[in-house]
Amino acid sequence: MTVNLLKKLIMTNEYELPCDEVHFLVDQYAEMKLRGDDVEGLMPMVKHHLDMCRDCLEEYEALVAALEFEENL
Ligand SMILES: [Zn+2]
Repeated sequence: MTVNLLKKLIMTNEYELPCDEVHFLVDQYAEMKLRGDDVEGLMPMVKHHLDMCRDCLEEYEALVAALEFEENL
């Protein structure tokens, strides 16, 4: 996935991200969130999807838990 494609996906607000694209982005989203980046401003589509999609939200929460666990090792 190129940065340009990523930007296009993130910037196109009318476009609903499908779950498989959220799968690509959710790692990065979780890492940015843990770094303290403004993910809701930077990746509003992912945020919007996570608010609506239980499956992706669970994946995101599992990722955050895994990343926090690694940080605490
Ligand atoms: Zn989803």
